Amino acid sequence: MKVLFLSSEVFPYSKTGGLGDVAGALPSALNDAGAEIAVISPSYRSVRDGGGKYSPVIDDIRVPLGAEELSFGLLSAESANGVKILFVEREDLYDRPNLYRGSRGDYYDNLERFAFFSWSSLIAAKSIGFRPDIIHCNDWQTGLVPALLKGPFAGDSFFASTSSIFTIHNMGFQGLFPSHKMGLTGLSEGQFYHPQGLEYWGNISLLKAGIVYCDAVTTVSPTYSREIQQPEHGRGMEGVIFRRRDRLYGILNGVDYRLWNPSDDPYLPSKYSLMNLDGKALCRQALTREMGLSEIDQEAPVLGMISRLDHNKGVDLVVSVVEKIIGRGGGLVVLGKGEPSLEDALKRAMQKYPGRISVRFEVDERLAHLIMAGCDIFLMPSRYEPCGLTQMYAMKYGSIPVVRRTGGLKDTVSEFDPSSGRGTGFTFDAYEAGAFSEAIVKAFRTYGDKKARETIIENGMKEDFSWNRSAESYLKVYRELSGHD
Ligand code: ADP
Repeated sequence: MKVLFLSSEVFPYSKTGGLGDVAGALPSALNDAGAEIAVISPSYRSVRDGGGKYSPVIDDIRVPLGAEELSFGLLSAESANGVKILFVEREDLYDRPNLYRGSRGDYYDNLERFAFFSWSSLIAAKSIGFRPDIIHCNDWQTGLVPALLKGPFAGDSFFASTSSIFTIHNMGFQGLFPSHKMGLTGLSEGQFYHPQGLEYWGNISLLKAGIVYCDAVTTVSPTYSREIQQPEHGRGMEGVIFRRRDRLYGILNGVDYRLWNPSDDPYLPSKYSLMNLDGKALCRQALTREMGLSEIDQEAPVLGMISRLDHNKGVDLVVSVVEKIIGRGGGLVVLGKGEPSLEDALKRAMQKYPGRISVRFEVDERLAHLIMAGCDIFLMPSRYEPCGLTQMYAMKYGSIPVVRRTGGLKDTVSEFDPSSGRGTGFTFDAYEAGAFSEAIVKAFRTYGDKKARETIIENGMKEDFSWNRSAESYLKVYRELSGHD
C-alpha cells in the first residue's frame, strides 16, 4: 500500500496546531503498520531555519498553472522512522515568517499558495515515480487535490488506480476565495464551479472541493463526524457532509508518546511516571517560579491552558471563572497566541491578579511541555473541538482535564465518579459560565481530596491513545478504497 500524505504543516518542521502534530506522527504509525508513505509539505521559512538537513531531489519541476508555467524545487528531509518527507520549495510563495497569515490577516495569495502546492504535490509524485494507491489530503489547503484527480489529472495513467481521502481537521477553516480567482485553481469553471461542486454561496471553497470530490471523507473523532452533519457544527456545510455520509468516517487522533511522555521528556526539569510522581511536584515548582505565580496557595491547584487563542477555544469562559479560581487560592497559567480581543481579555485578568494569573502570548514548545507537567488541572472548555490533542497529553502528564462535552473531548475524557473511582476528568454540556464553573468546582474538590486525586490521576495516566489504533482504522479505509491488502 503506497500512500502519499499531503499536509500544509508537519511537526517538527512546521506547526500551528493539531494538524502539524498529526502529520508528524500518523505517517510513521502507518509505516509501522506496513504502508509505504511519502509526506509532502511546503518548505516554509520555519522548515529551512529549523536546523534539519535537506537534500535537493529535483531542482526544477514545471507546473502548468493557468496561463503560466511555474517551477519549483523538491527537497527531501532525512527520513524519519522510515517515512519519506518532501518539501515543495518556492521562495516567493512559502518563505515567510508564518504559515498562513501575517499581522494584517490571512496572506492575500493563499489561494495561489495552496493551489500551487496541490498541483506541485501531484507532479512531484510523478517526477519521483511514487505511484500512490491512496492520496491522503488534509484540510482545505489540500482540498483541491481530489478535484484535480477528477479534472486535469483524470486521464493521467499514472494516477489511474489512485483513490483520494480527505480528512477534515476543522470545519471552521473553509478555504474561501472570491469566484473571480477560479482561474488560479487550474480547474475548468464549467466542470467544477457550481453548487454540486466547489462553489459555496458565490465563493470558491477548497474545503468543499475536498469533501465533494474525494473518494472518502474522514474527520478526527467519531462524535465530530456526527456533529458536522448538524447545523450547529456543520458551519453551513452540514448538507454537503450529509450527502457524503456513506463515505464518512470518524477516526480519533492519537498521541505521539515519543514526544509527549513525562517519563522521557527532555523539556522537563524533572521526569516522572505513575510509579513516582515526585517529579511532577518539581515541575509545578519550576512552572510557578518561571511564570511568577508567587501569590498562590501552595495547597491549591494550578490550572493550565495551552491553545491557539481562537473563539472556538472557550477563552471567554476561562476569563469568566477567574474569580472562582482566585477565590479558592488557585493559580492560572495560559500559553496562547491569536485573536487580539482574546489576548486583551487575558491581559486584563493577568493585570488584575498579578502573582496568580500569568499568560504568555507566544508559541513555545518547551513551555507547552512544562505547563502540561506543572499544572494540576487542564482547561479545555471549547465551543467545538474536532478532536483536541492537549486533553490527551494532559491525562498522560497527570493533569486533570476539565472539558466541554463536544467532539473529540467527549470521546476522550470521561466524567469522574468519586463513588466508583472511575473517570478521567470533569465535563460540562452547556456553553455557559455557570456550567463551566460547576465543573471547575468539582475539579477543585477532587484535587483537595488526596485519595480521589490519586485515583483520577492514575486513571488518566493509564489511558492509551497511541497512534497505532488510529493507523489501523485509516488502513482499513485505504483498503476499502483501493482493494489492496
Ligand atoms: P488545534 O489543532 O485546534 O490547535 P489541538 O489540541 O488539536 O488544537 O492541538 C494543539 C497543538 O498545538 C498542541 O500540540 C499544543 O501543545 C500546541 N499549541 C497550541 N498553542 C501553543 C502555543 N502557544 N505554544 C506551543 N504549543 C502550542
